[in-house]
Amino acid sequence: MAETLQSFFAGRWRDASGPEYATEYPHDGSVVATLHAATAADVDEAVQAAERARRAPAWARLKPHERAGLLWRIAQGIRERAEDLAQLQRLDNGKPIRECRALVASAAGTFQFFAAAAETWEETITPSRGDYLTMSVHEPLGVVGAITPWNSPIASEAQKLAPALAAGCAVVLKPAEITPRMAIELARICQRAGVPDGIVSVLPGKGSVVGDALVRHPLVKRIAFTGGTAVGLGIQRLAAEKLMPTSLELGGKSPTVVLPDAELDHAVAGVLYGIFSSSGESCIAGSRAFVHESVYDAFRARLLDGVARLRVGDPAREDTQMGPLVNRAHRETVERYVQLGRDEGGRVLAGGARPTGGFYDAGSYYLPTVIEGLPNRARMCQEEIFGPVLALLPWRDEDDLVAQCNDNVYGLAAGLWTRDFRAAWRIGRALETGTVWINTYKQFSISTPFSGVKMSGYGQEKGRLGILEYTSQKSFYVGLNEQPLPWALS
Ligand code: NAD
Repeated sequence: MAETLQSFFAGRWRDASGPEYATEYPHDGSVVATLHAATAADVDEAVQAAERARRAPAWARLKPHERAGLLWRIAQGIRERAEDLAQLQRLDNGKPIRECRALVASAAGTFQFFAAAAETWEETITPSRGDYLTMSVHEPLGVVGAITPWNSPIASEAQKLAPALAAGCAVVLKPAEITPRMAIELARICQRAGVPDGIVSVLPGKGSVVGDALVRHPLVKRIAFTGGTAVGLGIQRLAAEKLMPTSLELGGKSPTVVLPDAELDHAVAGVLYGIFSSSGESCIAGSRAFVHESVYDAFRARLLDGVARLRVGDPAREDTQMGPLVNRAHRETVERYVQLGRDEGGRVLAGGARPTGGFYDAGSYYLPTVIEGLPNRARMCQEEIFGPVLALLPWRDEDDLVAQCNDNVYGLAAGLWTRDFRAAWRIGRALETGTVWINTYKQFSISTPFSGVKMSGYGQEKGRLGILEYTSQKSFYVGLNEQPLPWALS
């Protein structure tokens, strides 16, 4: 039975004003929920209410330990509903249940981490160069628009909400149209934790309507965006019109490098996990594997053996490793890329098709796919596919390898598999990416900054200093003169 969802904005649960639409479970295409999309007028109401709420003493004058307590209660609220939230997230975007549980746990950890950061934040007294005391404090930027994609909802949303609330901002959150559920549940948890009405609003709907209205709204002072590079560029253009800071967490085409001395079992496991977990619908998916020619054949054989044994199936099953893609339209995009790879001369070594029979036919499933024989310059190796498609590329010379890894518009992440620490350090420093994993992949810690470079975006998420993204700095000079300032009297 499909549930009816409401939006939460300006402190009230109700239907948004736009047309009704349905969300589907990617496993079988069944309708999971119906809800109304928001409109620009709803955005205006939410933002006006957020502006009032963030200036009210109940929010603006919270002491650091009180604000921390609130964030802590949100973390606890998530933990109390952990299994329920994980199951809802599975229905929302079809990720395997074990991944959903990890995302929910990470969201709770994010609020807990920023609770600690808020409580222990210190401002600085700066060295004085005159008869005055100088200090610098951080002020909340105001109302923040947070815009998130569909691939890891609760984790993405927590990574924006938690630092924004810790900094004292109010947030109007626009989740992806097709995965609104986690943001709505987070709003419920925030409300129960005691977040004042208006401080958190959630408005699902179309990016071109709700997202656009948020970006343009004069009272929105910052946009925290995660999504595709094309949309991010559009947001940046609009933000320039009102000198609004943004953080843009965008796409990727991350290389994973296997050196001649790599422990091959570790490298194979890491490459498999890096590209095929989350069905490759991950900004940091390791979608280009550069394998040294001396171990290429051995690596390829073990990789293909691993691919053949991956369990692609029902996301509700505990042992499923790869679920369906988020919907049929996205599967068609992935299929077009695989066809492009074939047209460009690539050889499909595994996958390259939909699995068929039984429940596979109803869902938006696609097989884990490995393609070799393409140069790094091929479009299939250059563009983000956001699906379970790995390009396998041999390499010989280290300088050429680094040049090929960097020969891409994106710069989000990279992986290195080697026992040679000096080589790992040398190559890792030379790669143009925001994150480098050495002998591991796709591991995350909320205490470690995350950001892209090049067309993967900018702006820090995670890490204690992530709070700074939601603040402006204000300097104070406090006169200590015993006499009036001399200029007027001289
Ligand atoms: P998308 O850019 O299509 O949508 C992201 C969000 O932006 C959605 O909420 C969407 O409704 C909204 N949006 C769309 N048009 C808009 C507009 N004109 N104005 C304002 N908002 C608008 O991306 P997607 O397909 O949902 O997600 C996949 C993309 O997200 C991939 O490129 C992936 O790499 C990227 N991503 C990046 C990271 C990261 O941390 N760098 C993490 C996850 C996903």
